[in-house]
Amino acid sequence: MSKSFKHLKTREAFIERANERHNNKYDYSKVKFDKRGPLISYNGKRTRKAPEYNRDQKITITCPVHGDFIQTARKHIEKDPSGCKKCAAEQTGKILKQKWKNGELQAYQRKDQPKPKDGMQICMRCEKELPLTTEHFRIDNQKKTLGFGSTCKNCINKKARSEEEREKQRIRDRLRAKNLPAGIYRATNIITGCVYIGKSIRLPDRIQHHKTCLIMNKHKNPRMQADYNLHGKEHMIYEVIEEHPCDTPSEILYEREREQIIDHIRKGYNLYNRIN
Ligand SMILES: [Zn+2]
Ligand SMILES: [Zn+2]
Repeated sequence: MSKSFKHLKTREAFIERANERHNNKYDYSKVKFDKRGPLISYNGKRTRKAPEYNRDQKITITCPVHGDFIQTARKHIEKDPSGCKKCAAEQTGKILKQKWKNGELQAYQRKDQPKPKDGMQICMRCEKELPLTTEHFRIDNQKKTLGFGSTCKNCINKKARSEEEREKQRIRDRLRAKNLPAGIYRATNIITGCVYIGKSIRLPDRIQHHKTCLIMNKHKNPRMQADYNLHGKEHMIYEVIEEHPCDTPSEILYEREREQIIDHIRKGYNLYNRIN
């Protein structure tokens, strides 16, 4: 039986095994195993003293290049052992670069795609068969096993352009929202004849907000909501009674609103507004 199949019991034995697995690469001076109670058998009896080495414990190992890292003891000494993650990532990168230099990079291929000719790659998006060179494909460093990306540069650029296009549309939408007219509006229940007068710096948005609140039965004005519930939405009408430029200061709108409210009272309208 080879040495490595022996059960490990002590910290020293663990370090010996680890040095074997990793060619004395790491420093184990920070490795500590916690004291454990006796092991208990299935019927609750104490069986034997637990060994110092605990395969499931997380221990601190020091990489000569990257410093301390934490790993489960077992993972560090198993057959295909784990070591410093940063070292591993560097190694993968180096292998990729070397393969790239040797022209050995493999192309990623979907199973349902036809096999490309040697030195060619089929773009996953446009499905064109193109030479497997940096002129047509990007090198993908993210994926361990693959060298070239699966989408051709042309498609990648197209996608970037469409995203730019969408961002421009978003800006246009925002500008449009800013240019919505401001002003004074009136909502009327045509059965009761009762009106609500309001102001807004974005009239269409504000009117839509009233409609939504009423539909959801959450309107701030209880009398207006009650009438709406009783008579239905087809009996609510909305009118813009004064339109102002979108950059009108809100104090002016406030004043105009007051004037309209007073004017409506004078004309004998019944108002939903609370008058202060
Ligand atoms: Zn390292
Ligand atoms: Zn393409």
